[in-house]
Amino acid sequence: MNPESMRSPEPPETDPTGSQEDRTRSGVFLGKFLGIRFYLDYSWFFIVALVIYTLSTFFFPHELSGRDPGVYIAMGVVAALLFFLSILLHELGHSVVSQRCGIPVPSITLLFIGGLAEISREPEDPQTELKIAVAGPAVSLVLVVLYHALAWVCNAAVFPEGVAVFKWLASVNLLLVLFNAIPGYPLDGGRILRALLWMYSGGFRRATFITSRIGVAFSWFLMALGVILIFGGQWGQGLLFLIIGSFLKSAAESGYAQALSKQFLDGVRVRDLMTHDPVCVPAQLPLNLAVDDYFLTNHHVAFPVIDDDRRFRGLLRLDSLKSVPREKWPYVLAGELAQDHDAHLGIPAETSAASALRLLLIPGQGSLGVLDEAERLIGIITRHDLLHFIRIHTELED
Ligand SMILES: [Zn+2]
Repeated sequence: MNPESMRSPEPPETDPTGSQEDRTRSGVFLGKFLGIRFYLDYSWFFIVALVIYTLSTFFFPHELSGRDPGVYIAMGVVAALLFFLSILLHELGHSVVSQRCGIPVPSITLLFIGGLAEISREPEDPQTELKIAVAGPAVSLVLVVLYHALAWVCNAAVFPEGVAVFKWLASVNLLLVLFNAIPGYPLDGGRILRALLWMYSGGFRRATFITSRIGVAFSWFLMALGVILIFGGQWGQGLLFLIIGSFLKSAAESGYAQALSKQFLDGVRVRDLMTHDPVCVPAQLPLNLAVDDYFLTNHHVAFPVIDDDRRFRGLLRLDSLKSVPREKWPYVLAGELAQDHDAHLGIPAETSAASALRLLLIPGQGSLGVLDEAERLIGIITRHDLLHFIRIHTELED
């Protein structure tokens, strides 16, 4: 199964959050091919072990009886590795077409439920979207034919172990194609439907809205199925359906949020949406006075902290105050606490609003200081500011 759901619509290289994205990408670096970095997510080791175990103890002994356990393990290992190679080739299909269309693909990661091609931005037109979306399943279909042919060759050569392995690979790849054919975003089928809707009727946002609704509905179906399976005693499969369902659901929802932000935040800078000259806490103020003079009098949950020359020191937040015992408040300066917790929560005023939104959607991070070239604080921007801006535009449009 292969919801390569998180093709992040990353902005171009000037984006200050780009490197952060990179740092969060965990996994083993495999190598570089066609300019794409390949990674194995750590979860992959768990899932490959599970696949090998299931194949060599249940599936292959059932298909082909009377072999040594070692033979089944060898079959399981070969089948599992070729299966993951198949997923990699599916992702490579998307990626090569994407690069041909001028959209770079910095990396491909093999995750626990499939591959993830990091396509650096959303296509600008439906034709490109369609080509990229079709390429992955097309590769998988070719693999189905290829594995069937190999099974046939093994059959002719009287090599039943090979027949069993290749038949399994053919059917698993076919399953991959069928799963991805479901027309819910962010599955390939959803992207294909989105491209068609986008092409033949109303804009990108409407098309994303419809297909992400289908994606969410399908994810609920998967999760319900998972619960039914668990109650039926098949907890392993049930759990898998639950995990895949919840993964799809959040990907479908965030896909729509990204479509909105693409439509309305395009070309908008943080400078355009920030609150100018916010109330600031001086860095030299002890916490007890900061609480009395700022938190209790202005009703905000976070204040920017600045030096004498308006240099930004970080955000002083209500929740970080709680980490300091109350009796120590007179001895801790606002600047020290802000620097400890939020040293990096300032962004340049020229940052795109879309990348600010991505930072602000990180849980627990509701506001950011806005800085000029000399790192002096000139404003503040909150999650609420951006979501409000998007909401107003959405309602004006409908
Ligand atoms: Zn795909």
